[in-house]
Amino acid sequence: MRVCKKCGVEKPEEAFLVNHRTAGLPDIDQPCHECKRENRRLYYQKNRNKAYIQNVESRNRNRYRYNEARNNRQSRLVRDLSDEYIKNLLCNDGMKSEVLKIYPELIENRRMQIKVKRLLKSIRDAI
Ligand SMILES: [Zn+2]
Repeated sequence: MRVCKKCGVEKPEEAFLVNHRTAGLPDIDQPCHECKRENRRLYYQKNRNKAYIQNVESRNRNRYRYNEARNNRQSRLVRDLSDEYIKNLLCNDGMKSEVLKIYPELIENRRMQIKVKRLLKSIRDAI
């Protein structure tokens, strides 16, 4: 347990982020994760333009890493037939997202269609 310097609440170690600068040792000057998140939110509100430019610059500097992370995420969504991916497919076919909220079984139906299609393809490829 550790007391946060900002909010003064005693919290378990997990509520504090590991500081890699101190090689994993507790950095007692750091506020808890929640306080840090709040600080970031306030900073972003006050410095919206500056933060936006910093984000864009960071993305450009680390373009390769950003692209790789985005591509990995996208392939995971496609491979696992996530709700997000299937909703996108349906919306690209002209389905309204409000309709999908009322009839979530449409997502499940489409998922089954894709599963059958993939199964048939794998059988065809095996022959
Ligand atoms: Zn705190």
